[in-house]
Amino acid sequence: MRKIPTLLLGLLIAIPPCTADQLPDLGESSRQYLTDKQEKEIAHDIMRDIYSSPNFLRDTEIETYLNNLGSRLASESTARTRTLTFFALQDPSINAFALPGGFIGVHTGLIQSAENESELAGVLAHEIAHISQEHLSRMIAQQDRSYLPTLAALAIAVLAARSNANIGSAAIATAQAVSIQSQLNFTREHEREADRIGLDILTNAGFDPRGLSTFFNRLQRANRLYDNNAPEYLRTHPLSSQRVADIDGRLENAPYKQIRDSNEFHFVRARLAAMEDTPEDAIKRFQDQITQKKTPLEAASRYGLALALARKNKYADAEKELMIAIKSAESPMLLNLQAELRTKAGNPSQGISLYQSALSRYPQYKPLIYGYGLSLILSGQPQQARAFLSSQTILWPDDSRLWKMLARAHAALGHKLASHRAEAEAMASEGNLPAALEQINLGLKAGDGDFYELSAAEARRREWQETLSSEANKK
Ligand SMILES: [Zn+2]
Repeated sequence: MRKIPTLLLGLLIAIPPCTADQLPDLGESSRQYLTDKQEKEIAHDIMRDIYSSPNFLRDTEIETYLNNLGSRLASESTARTRTLTFFALQDPSINAFALPGGFIGVHTGLIQSAENESELAGVLAHEIAHISQEHLSRMIAQQDRSYLPTLAALAIAVLAARSNANIGSAAIATAQAVSIQSQLNFTREHEREADRIGLDILTNAGFDPRGLSTFFNRLQRANRLYDNNAPEYLRTHPLSSQRVADIDGRLENAPYKQIRDSNEFHFVRARLAAMEDTPEDAIKRFQDQITQKKTPLEAASRYGLALALARKNKYADAEKELMIAIKSAESPMLLNLQAELRTKAGNPSQGISLYQSALSRYPQYKPLIYGYGLSLILSGQPQQARAFLSSQTILWPDDSRLWKMLARAHAALGHKLASHRAEAEAMASEGNLPAALEQINLGLKAGDGDFYELSAAEARRREWQETLSSEANKK
């Protein structure tokens, strides 16, 4: 993103309020394109692929941020009845993409290149609109009927191509996959509709609708400068001058709103920056930001500095920076890092009490839940870990991380069936039913477990077997 010139937007003009033109919304009636069952099957295959992708960013803070931002936007759209899953891919190129099954992938390059939160929210809102308007399902359904049995293969080809356009095109170099990929690029009509609905979502969710416009203008300018190296985003979302003009036209009458970015937007960007380069370079960068006062949020630079210092095992120095940040800004991300640093510095019991007090303030914050569960296991308290994690899996039954931790807690307690069962649930929630069945069979053979546990495991096994055989019958 450093290549792309900064667009200075200094137009503070008072503009009269707008009346949004209401075009018919295509979202509700279009579930006919793919059945729920077909879409679920595709989603399973895609999830498996996403989780095994080397670019998949296993960072619960960034994932949580994207999902919170995404659900705030989705609640303003007709996609609100669907489960949307946002995930990050470690990739410096500027891209975001929607997949069948409600998955939205975001490249770290996009998060880093957004100049404010409304820009990032604008791109996510546009992708949510592609989903709420069923653009992907419509494109897939338009394909020849004989393609339908291979929908899963198709979706994976699209994922490979989208998540890494350079390697992807080589990896899926079959003529069919390439031609499908090109047919699955959004049409101009789809783009225009996603822009229009995306702008409404953005406005209703309380962001600055100009975020979409400033971001697209910058992309378009970059595209002109770097002809052969267009940002990835433009390959799947063709951006014409007409489109940009349409967006700007819609914004003409929108009232100017100064929107403050969330603290987490800055913390997430600092977190990504702290992971890049060598720790030494990152430390220097954040120290320079702080001393030269060149930071949009000083607490974020302190947070990044603490993370980079922790990479060098300088936990005491890291906590000193973090405490300065905690005094000036409030966020569960800061409290989570404090508990983590104390644990890594060799004080697990202090870490545990920090997790407990942070969870009493932010009981729903996933990274704290994971951190607390893991530190109970690592500090030799499997009984407490089991109690805490099983209550959490009731609240979040599709969370494979929680199930995997619960499996560890049960294993530490010598519960064989319960451990395999939790492992099986983890596999199932990642869409891998064959692996789930393998685990549950191991559990049922283990010879422990009471009547209730055994019959629950058997019921689950039947359920998965039925799903798998109905999928197999269709192929
Ligand atoms: Zn698009």
